Amino acid sequence: MSLVVMKFGGTSVGSAARMREVASIVASRSGEQRLVVVSAMAGVTNQLFEIADLAKRHETSRAREILQLMEDRHVATARELGLDTPEVLSTLRGILEGIERRVQGIDLLGELSARTMDEIASSGERMSSVLVAGLLGCPLLDARTVVRTDNHFGAARPRYQAIRKLAEQLLMPLLETSEIVVTQGYIGSDEAGDTTTLGRGGSDFSAGIFGAALQAREIEIWTDVEGIMTADPRIVSNARTVDVLSYEEVAELASYGAKVLHPATVRPAVEAGIPVTIRNTMKPDGNFTTISPGASSGRPCAALAMRRNVAILSVVQEAMTDQSGFLARLFEVFGRRGVSVDLVSTSEVCVSVSLDSSAPLDALVEDLHRLGRVSVASNRAVIAVVGDSLRQTPAVLRTAFSAIDGVCVDLISMGANAINLSFIVQEQAAEEVMRRLHAAFFEAA
Ligand code: ASP
Ligand code: MG
Repeated sequence: MSLVVMKFGGTSVGSAARMREVASIVASRSGEQRLVVVSAMAGVTNQLFEIADLAKRHETSRAREILQLMEDRHVATARELGLDTPEVLSTLRGILEGIERRVQGIDLLGELSARTMDEIASSGERMSSVLVAGLLGCPLLDARTVVRTDNHFGAARPRYQAIRKLAEQLLMPLLETSEIVVTQGYIGSDEAGDTTTLGRGGSDFSAGIFGAALQAREIEIWTDVEGIMTADPRIVSNARTVDVLSYEEVAELASYGAKVLHPATVRPAVEAGIPVTIRNTMKPDGNFTTISPGASSGRPCAALAMRRNVAILSVVQEAMTDQSGFLARLFEVFGRRGVSVDLVSTSEVCVSVSLDSSAPLDALVEDLHRLGRVSVASNRAVIAVVGDSLRQTPAVLRTAFSAIDGVCVDLISMGANAINLSFIVQEQAAEEVMRRLHAAFFEAA
């Protein structure tokens, strides 16, 4: 029997009604073994961080208020689902008491260790998974028994070999007898048995880790959008779902601010040759995107992405051509300030780099003065045309340039890996540029 990993995010398990939809999606996949990986109910992980922070500041009564709201929400959800059995309620209570005890401890010591934070942060997934497993009437696997990690609390790294062994020992037999098993995303445990987390938003990562360990047929990431779109639909009304993308295309889009999925999280799966799909819980039969190992969109432009808050810093040095090591000295400044540079363009006498405008621009200008005349252009946006076969399609440039005819472009870069073509323009022109490029690449007859 083939096996799928189905991961449901916080919004997808955010209420009793949504959990019912999840249950019906899971049920519709009969004939397959299904590992259901769930996030905490929407907003709960944020609340857990807030509770810990309040405890540290000795504001325990406010912390307890939030904890109470959290309890009420989970108990009410259990009741709505007809799951308010003594067993479910006492499991929830046990988890909440664990948080309460730690809040007291933090308050007493005025100190919050990363290890304690992870223990608290794990509670959201532990509670939501009890409800989803109850609803599906299937076994619940504590992810901490399988997802072995190092002890880098807050951003623990998985130990893949150990996980594969544990999955074989503990998870496969469960799936063989019951077909559906529910577990938590985001959490694991270290060698010593202490709870760890994989970092915020880590449930996708968990799905990838489980999928790779189980050699799943597919990993489904169920979220609140219909996959990855050709452009941000809030800007481009004709944006539509991209059917197939390569891992590289997804990574490139994400680096330009496409937020659907952090690509690193599905890397283990893609490396293991397992396709990952991104689907919409609200429209289970709607469009979705497949991130396919070894395949690609096959398009010169698979999607457009845009990032705002970009600044361009230029250094003009008339004598640059006679100097060696100029770029080394220039980038040393960025390196020392821990600033990451995005796009770079050089001419005989000028080097321009683009940065996020949150970079310490004044300090950089100060440092760079001794290298030449420095100028800063802010309020810019970078727009990227991303597609695996961009490189093999010379007409891409013609299409792109005719589309943005008349727009003042500050910087152009064709990525070194040649699957993206980026433009930096004034932020106020950016949306119009997106719409024009989208029309040229996706809406032309
Ligand atoms: N609940 C965790 C978070 O909000 C993990 C996740 O949802 O992916 O960060
Ligand atoms: Mg979440």
